[in-house]
Amino acid sequence: MFNVKSNFSRNLLLTDDDIGDDHIMTSLETPLRPDAFDLSDEEKMDKIEHHFREIMLTMGLDLDDDSLRGTPKRVAKMYIQEIFSGLNPNNKPKVALFDNKYGYYEMLVEKDITFYSNCEHHFVPIVGKAHVAYISNGSVIGLSKLNRIVQYFAKRPQVQERLTMQIAQELCRILGTDDVAIVIDAHHLCVSSRGVQDVNSSTITAYYGGQFMKESRKTEFLQYLSLPPSAQVAEVLQTKKQG
Ligand SMILES: [Zn+2]
Repeated sequence: MFNVKSNFSRNLLLTDDDIGDDHIMTSLETPLRPDAFDLSDEEKMDKIEHHFREIMLTMGLDLDDDSLRGTPKRVAKMYIQEIFSGLNPNNKPKVALFDNKYGYYEMLVEKDITFYSNCEHHFVPIVGKAHVAYISNGSVIGLSKLNRIVQYFAKRPQVQERLTMQIAQELCRILGTDDVAIVIDAHHLCVSSRGVQDVNSSTITAYYGGQFMKESRKTEFLQYLSLPPSAQVAEVLQTKKQG
């Protein structure tokens, strides 16, 4: 199921620019070098700080300015500790499963998980919502862990198709079932702020495994996604907060 091996890189008709500009993904795994974790996080931050300073200087920015002086260090810290922290397997969320003691064997849907990722072709944000569902085959997972798994894979230079598949693959592995579905709806800032500059378009990707390949299950899942009551609940919570 997850042995997607493409031959894009061997396709001589595509240049690196074609692949990047059209946001084509070349593999399911994030392309990492064998020595990806030889350096410590501190060593990586030092290197990135140095190189980012060079980029800023090359663009003609005055690093002696109070406002800019700390930027290279801040960017380095943000890259390693925050927005790309999902590259390091040490940061993968530890997930404990529980027995399905209440015998709930319908689908569980966790919808509207907001995530921030970055396009690996332009290093600008992808902002979106992930909707995740699974049907227990005996084990259940804490709801917050579904959220954390989405965030972990989002915190990498990404391509939306790969993000979708990586979350699906991880959930199938953890839960020991193929009965997993994901829908991701996201805005790519590289599409809205540069290139074609389309601010209104969003990109939707989906994964349906096991029982979710059945039309009835898929329809049920998609109907839950279009249900409006979560907005009403949010309104109630908001009113409570204000009161
Ligand atoms: Zn892009």
